[in-house]
Amino acid sequence: MAGAMFRGTGFMTQALSQAAEAANRGEVPVGAIVVDGNGQVLAAAGNGTRTLNDPAGHAEILALRAACARRGQPQLPDCDLWVTLEPCAMCAAAISHARIRRLYFGAYDPKGGAVDHGPRWFTQPTCHHVPEIYGGIDEVSAGALLRRFFAALRRDVTGGTDPA
Ligand SMILES: [Zn+2]
Repeated sequence: MAGAMFRGTGFMTQALSQAAEAANRGEVPVGAIVVDGNGQVLAAAGNGTRTLNDPAGHAEILALRAACARRGQPQLPDCDLWVTLEPCAMCAAAISHARIRRLYFGAYDPKGGAVDHGPRWFTQPTCHHVPEIYGGIDEVSAGALLRRFFAALRRDVTGGTDPA
């Protein structure tokens, strides 16, 4: 159990480093990792909506696309998704379509999340696949990253000095 926990935290650490890289690109800091049944990381991505000019360029979508492309298949039933923030409605639906086995997420997102908040996608009758769901993993780290990012944005907007 302790071993599994340690491994798990390692995957969230990798997702968090993707989130930090996204912040360095000026993106909202969210990161995601797809891990296969053998514990191998198939794909890793940070949020890319601004860099890619893609409203669907959330970390989860980019990681799922990369993992599916690598596998040459549209579904990943033996894989787990680790993401630093509670997925939005779009990403929750994509996670269902990809038949992800387990969803691990970091910080809860009362404003934009769709797992424990808002539409609660996985409880909807039109949702045809529900992964095992574990929320709040390393949520302090994930939340701190987001708060630092938005605090820096506010400083920029008010003409303060760049914290970097
Ligand atoms: Zn999303």
